[in-house]
Amino acid sequence: MTTLLIKDGFVLTMDEKNTVHVPGWVWIKNDRIGAVGAGKPRADLADCADRVIDATNMAVLPGLVNGHTHLSQTFMRGLADDKGLLDWLKRVVRPIQAKMTPDDMQLASLLGLVENLRCGVTTVIHHHKLTTLPEHVDAAAEAAHLVGLRMLLVRGWRDLGDFCESPETIIEEMTRLHERWHLSADGRITIGFGPKAPWRCSDATMRRTIALARDWGVPTHIHVAETRDEIEMLQKRNGMRHIEWLSTLDALGSDVQLVHCVWVDDAELDLIAASGSTVIHCPVSNMYLASGIAPLHKMFDRCILVALGTDGPASHNSQDFLETLKTAVLLAKVSTGDATILPPADALHMVTTAGARLLGREDLGRIVVGCKADITIINLNTARSMPVHRPESALVYNASGPDVHTVIVDGRILLDAGRVTILDEASLLIECRAAASHLLNRAGATSGEPDALETVRRVTH
Ligand SMILES: [Zn+2]
Repeated sequence: MTTLLIKDGFVLTMDEKNTVHVPGWVWIKNDRIGAVGAGKPRADLADCADRVIDATNMAVLPGLVNGHTHLSQTFMRGLADDKGLLDWLKRVVRPIQAKMTPDDMQLASLLGLVENLRCGVTTVIHHHKLTTLPEHVDAAAEAAHLVGLRMLLVRGWRDLGDFCESPETIIEEMTRLHERWHLSADGRITIGFGPKAPWRCSDATMRRTIALARDWGVPTHIHVAETRDEIEMLQKRNGMRHIEWLSTLDALGSDVQLVHCVWVDDAELDLIAASGSTVIHCPVSNMYLASGIAPLHKMFDRCILVALGTDGPASHNSQDFLETLKTAVLLAKVSTGDATILPPADALHMVTTAGARLLGREDLGRIVVGCKADITIINLNTARSMPVHRPESALVYNASGPDVHTVIVDGRILLDAGRVTILDEASLLIECRAAASHLLNRAGATSGEPDALETVRRVTH
């Protein structure tokens, strides 16, 4: 048995009453939260703790859930600036992805996971776009296993247009992944379906994969209504908008996660609300690609559950989840002209309890007895955050990734006072730098060359 006591912090439990203990303490026994309280910790617990973390002037909150990313894109940071979605996909992401080896994928995933960890994230939903070889997707899962973060790995698929796969290949590969990885690493790694976007997916295969996902009890996670162009592309095919199409296929529900939802009309929002589907909001990516602004206020009016994602590092360009949270709040206010929308406590629910719902887990996203010991500790004793009058406000408006002090997943300390414990981070950075450079050379570009992307395009098309 291992026990850990966190004491003297601002403990934000994110429970039903939004209880905050100032100061408070959390007692962890193995992989679960054993006790929580206000004031000084119980003497019997303090006396026998294997490890005590002094969280004075720090926030202690449930581990954050990054609802949407593509880890392979860590090697593409900064290569895709100043492009819209379709141009960005065609000229940058696809050509470089096509040249990635499984080793590249593992290194890119490790880098992305370490960055997420450093930003206080304990769970990532990795939408795996790169499906050239089964080994690519295995490499991402292996990286999650190594780092120790929780990962819902949704395998991307498309059976229409370029780089498409046959329905049989998609089902076979999903079956293999499900058998090999689902509920592995003590249950931290789970598998779901990741249809790319409605215009890349046929009706028949969508129906088959939704049925299979429901049979297995796993989620379906899909990009929808990200840009206006994509709406038109589906309408040309079948006359329907994205959510309308999903509804006709019976592909909405509490097991369906809708990423982006920027261009959704009121009737589609009603369908989302009635079905209980979840929306994953990616504001930085939507701004970076100039896709638009998701109508969060209309979602909140309909009690639609909204979680938050960074999206991949090729359209962010980082994985700083706290920066993404602040952006979400500010964008919601300025786009509606309503300064009262998305107050700090509600914003924190987007990245904790709402994120836990994406995984279908009652025992994540809160600091209450019996929940998994996934905990993030953020230093607020900084020039940027002091004095702390309201910890919720300081977390949303002041803190950023580098302030994350300690991260615990399943009771295991993965980031300890700023030091990554599970691997040699300096060596990882050296390996990633070399691998990314070789990758760009293979893709026909030289890192740092001003017109690198044009070179990529010429060589690969
Ligand atoms: Zn995405």
